[in-house]
Amino acid sequence: EEEKGGNFIEDIIREDLKQGKNGGRVHTRFPPEPNGYLHIGHAKAICIDFGMAEKFGGLCNLRFDDTNPTKEDEEYVEAIKRDVKWLGFDWEDRLYYASDYFDKMYEYAVELIKKGKAYVCDLSAEEIKEYRGTLTEPGRESPYRNRSVEENLELFERMKNGEFPDGSRVLRAKIDMASGNINMRDPVLYRIQHATHHRTGDKWCIYPMYDYAHPIEDALEGITHSLCTLEFADHRPLYDWVLDNIDYQKDVKVEGRPKQIEFARLNLTYTVMSKRKLRLLVEEGYVKGWDDPRMPTISGLRRRGYTPEAIRDFCERIGVARRDSVVDIGLLEHCVREDLNKRAPRAMVVLNPLKVVITNYPEGQIEWLETENNPEMPEMGTRKIPFSREIYIEAEDFMEDPPKKFFRLKPGGEVRLKSAYIIKCEEVIKDPATGEVVELRCTYDPESKSGGANASRKVKGTLHWVEASHAVPCEVRLYDYLFKVPYPDDDEDGLSFIDKINPDSLRILTGCLAEPGLKNVKPEERFQFLRHGYFCVDPDSTPEMPVFNRIVGLKDTWAK
Ligand code: ATP
Ligand code: MG
Ligand code: MG
Repeated sequence: EEEKGGNFIEDIIREDLKQGKNGGRVHTRFPPEPNGYLHIGHAKAICIDFGMAEKFGGLCNLRFDDTNPTKEDEEYVEAIKRDVKWLGFDWEDRLYYASDYFDKMYEYAVELIKKGKAYVCDLSAEEIKEYRGTLTEPGRESPYRNRSVEENLELFERMKNGEFPDGSRVLRAKIDMASGNINMRDPVLYRIQHATHHRTGDKWCIYPMYDYAHPIEDALEGITHSLCTLEFADHRPLYDWVLDNIDYQKDVKVEGRPKQIEFARLNLTYTVMSKRKLRLLVEEGYVKGWDDPRMPTISGLRRRGYTPEAIRDFCERIGVARRDSVVDIGLLEHCVREDLNKRAPRAMVVLNPLKVVITNYPEGQIEWLETENNPEMPEMGTRKIPFSREIYIEAEDFMEDPPKKFFRLKPGGEVRLKSAYIIKCEEVIKDPATGEVVELRCTYDPESKSGGANASRKVKGTLHWVEASHAVPCEVRLYDYLFKVPYPDDDEDGLSFIDKINPDSLRILTGCLAEPGLKNVKPEERFQFLRHGYFCVDPDSTPEMPVFNRIVGLKDTWAK
């Protein structure tokens, strides 16, 4: 029951409130590391963190977990803020940085040393790893483990003062080298790193490790429920150890103690999700940037045309489980279709135009016909589209020698033009050199439009079309999945995810023609192009040449 739409975190919070824990407060945080752009997995975490606070009348902080100076950058901070806001969440005045607490963290480290619970260790990183042991074999104690408090205090201060090179010493917690949990075998709390931090500059040359820093950040902010992904479950005893062994209460005004709760990471078929892999795709030029419409990043999904509502609906539907799984990307596509079906105005765009001349229609005449903006939502009204003697239809909608069940246009055949007339194909004009069909000569039934005597006359096919003199030239970008296989992360075949990149994930169509209403569109405007799917205006658009990204096709592979 936990799997589908269930939410065990909600149950835990409800129980905590019932027991009066944390003075009845619920306070969560979303703690991204500013070392890359957010992806749809982060959207799940954002929806849970902000969603739980909202649900229980609590608060949610946005906190940048900026304890790795060499990997982090202000560019990412700004991108992350923009993405969280775009998704529809608001941290109000609760924006924090882990680096705000560097002084406090140092103070608590001194406290641990004084209590005999931390020591400076001179082993190299490789030696520490070797001494740490394995799952089946206990670790060995460092020869520096029993340094005196005085020596540790002095060395730690000298570490802070920049007297030692990178990697020469670390501060470690003194816990238990025989613990069944390797994370508890004297974990490193501080490392030396002579690096400029994007916020604290050169003030520090020692930086706290995540497992030490995170519980302190949570405690100082009065966080009650520290929600994170499953890979941190084994780190929870260390999270609790830190809180048990420092006196943070004296620095916090509110009642309570943070509790770490883990939920499953989101994985999606046909994509990769780790920032490391996404960064590689960007840096090696497999995609055009973090916001490439094929990327599972929030900025990529936004550029592709996904709505925040669809992404939030998706996060709601996948629920919160304790077991990792891979979600079918068809569900995400289903969510955006459902949303846009109700919201996106319809438009007619011909991707591969074939000219049609209607020989019995008066030359020079333009007629404005009414058509609905969204048949699902009559309140979205109607618009006028031009019709004349020359129009374009989709080249694929005509076949000279069609199979039996072809209900589009063929020589001598009839179709209805959407919101206009029935036309009949009288003559096929070909390029004499190539034999290619370049134009159709048709006649129309003047009584067949809405309100006419033959308005209800039935013909099999209805085609979308665009009037020639008002047509707006545009570019259309059609996307396929970035990977050829559903599980690109799966390396059992010995291949890297790079080997599974789909070479045909982007098709650019130029020379497309749109109805005149699409002339002055703005980025992020979305439409349903009749028979082609949902499209979004790309920021590459110019007033002369709008560019449209296909968000998804019309056919739903999810709804059964
Ligand atoms: P990655 O492994 O992709 O680099 P990360 O966990 O290092 O991700 P952070 O910036 O530390 O990225 O993530 C911020 C928060 O988002 C964390 O609480 C993390 O648990 C959560 N998160 C990250 N990836 C996912 C995911 N795929 N599904 C759900 N939550 C996620
Ligand atoms: Mg992280
Ligand atoms: Mg990471």
